[in-house]
Amino acid sequence: MADLKLDLIGHLELLQEWGVSGFSLDARWTDRIDAGPSSDGVAVESPPAPALPSTDGPGEDRISAPAVVEPADVLDNLRREIGDCTRCKLHALGRTQVVFGVGNPRADLMFVGEAPGADEDRLGMPFVGRAGQLLTKIIEAMGLRREDVYIANVIKCRPPGNRNPEPDEIATCEPFLLRQIDMVRPRAIVALGAFAVRALLRVDAPISRLRGRAYEYRGAKLVPTFHPAFLLRSPQYKRETWEDMKLVMALLRESPGDDARGTRSE
Ligand code: SF4
Repeated sequence: MADLKLDLIGHLELLQEWGVSGFSLDARWTDRIDAGPSSDGVAVESPPAPALPSTDGPGEDRISAPAVVEPADVLDNLRREIGDCTRCKLHALGRTQVVFGVGNPRADLMFVGEAPGADEDRLGMPFVGRAGQLLTKIIEAMGLRREDVYIANVIKCRPPGNRNPEPDEIATCEPFLLRQIDMVRPRAIVALGAFAVRALLRVDAPISRLRGRAYEYRGAKLVPTFHPAFLLRSPQYKRETWEDMKLVMALLRESPGDDARGTRSE
């Protein structure tokens, strides 16, 4: 009982830190997700442009996947296929290792970031540095555990000096991410930061204009929000981020489960 009380206090303190001032059982909060475009800007929109996998290079094998597949096995195979990848120039620009992805291969919720940083490059896992710890807090504030979700980056190798990935690097590496998305088949995707949002939605707009709503993307609802590294520098944007996470939680409650989407077969 004492443990439960401590857990509850910890959770409430976390929510307070995120700017949550109260709770509501009002059904209208979730009803507005179904209502389509609304005056408060909460709607599920079509992406500005389709984001299709390349038919060249690493995107090809998805076509020849077995009739019924186990996501964990296919993700393992994909990781083996990537191997010690040398497909783009980042392999020779100081990366330690490929940082593939981590989490539940059948997750309802997927987080997509930009590229590994120094800690991720060293440990071989996405979002394990300070920004990763903040992401874990966000996930826990949503009532989930880190192992419940799937986490990956658009780019699998650390760019030198944490510079932005270049177009040729994105074009070469992104098909791996698309295959991860297609295999996990999340119901919702959170795109973390402007780079990930622009790469996935093929738009060139500031994150402040793109966030606050959901977009249809590869069978999931994609919600853009600020990158945790940005939140470490600008904590005043935590409140907007929490609003985006509330939208994600509402979409997860509203969107059909795996049965309605069919089995994972190709
Ligand atoms: S960034 Fe992607 S394509 Fe480039 S070397 Fe790493 S895994 Fe290969």
